[in-house]
Amino acid sequence: MKLALPLLSLAILAACQTAPPPGPQPESVAMAPEEAPETQVAPTPGEQWLLGSAEARIIMVQTWNEIAAYVEQQAAARPNASVILAPGATPEAPEYLACGDRPLAAVFDADETLIWNTGSTGAFRRLGMEFDPAIWSDWERTGAGKAVAIPGALDGLSRIRAAGVEVIINTNREAANVDGNIETLRAAGIGDFVHGSTLFLKGDTPGGSAKDGRRYAISENYCVIALVGDQLGDIADIFNDKSLRPAGRLALSEAPAFDAMWGKGWFLLPNPLYGPSIAGTMDEIFPPETHWEPSTQE
Ligand SMILES: [Mg+2]
Repeated sequence: MKLALPLLSLAILAACQTAPPPGPQPESVAMAPEEAPETQVAPTPGEQWLLGSAEARIIMVQTWNEIAAYVEQQAAARPNASVILAPGATPEAPEYLACGDRPLAAVFDADETLIWNTGSTGAFRRLGMEFDPAIWSDWERTGAGKAVAIPGALDGLSRIRAAGVEVIINTNREAANVDGNIETLRAAGIGDFVHGSTLFLKGDTPGGSAKDGRRYAISENYCVIALVGDQLGDIADIFNDKSLRPAGRLALSEAPAFDAMWGKGWFLLPNPLYGPSIAGTMDEIFPPETHWEPSTQE
C-alpha cells in the first residue's frame, strides 16, 4: 500500500506558507504566530469519494454482485482452465493454468478490495503525512477493528462460499505481521484465514510484491475461477512492467485477449487513492489533439 500525495498540493501548500499572493492580505496572514489557527486538515478528494460517497458504495455493491453472480455461474459450469495466466503468457499467446479436478477457488487482494483501511488513511491525513512503511506495519499489527469491510463484500463472499468456492486472499501485507493481518480480516467480518492455505502474504514466495509466484502456489491446490483486486498487479504481473507509461498500460489492458477477461474472471474495484494507476503528465492525460480553449479567452 502506498499513498499518493499530489505534488501540486504540496506546491500550493508551500507557496501559501512562504509567498502570499499579491494584493490585500486576509487578516489571518497578519496574525502573530501564537494567534495563528491550527492548520486545517481535510480528506483528499479521492478519500472523500472512496470512503464517504454514496456513489462509491453503489459501485462497490454493483461490482460485488457481478463477482458473486459470475462465480456462482462458473461453479455450476465447472471450467477446466483457471483465470491465472500461465508463466510466459502474452496478449498474443494468452495461456491459462489448467485446473485438473482441483477444488474451485476465488482469489482476492485484501486492501481496498475486501477492506478499506479507514483507520490508517485517516491517521496519515491527520498527521499530514505521506505513506510511511513503519506506521503501515504498525497498522497491519494493531489495526483490527478499524479496517472495515467494503460495501457489498460480505454478501458477495457469503454467496461465493455458498456456491462451494473457497475464498483465498493474496495480499501484499507482510508475512511478518501474520497474526495482526488475520485478526484484521476476522474483525472486519471477512473470515478466518489460514496462512499458507487460504491466506498468502508478501514474503511467502520470492518476488517481493509481485504476486504471480503466490498465484502459482495457490493453483497447485485450487482451480482459480476469479481474480479480484484494486490494482492490475492483483490480476497478473505482466501489467506491472515499470517501463509502461499510462498509455502502455491502457493498451495492454485492452489487448483483445485480456479485454475479454474483464468482468469474466478478472474483476477490478476502484481505488483513486494510490497505486500505479495514479500517474501521467499533462500531455499524457490531456494530449495535444484534445486541446481546447474557451472562446471568451483572449
Ligand atoms: Mg489492494
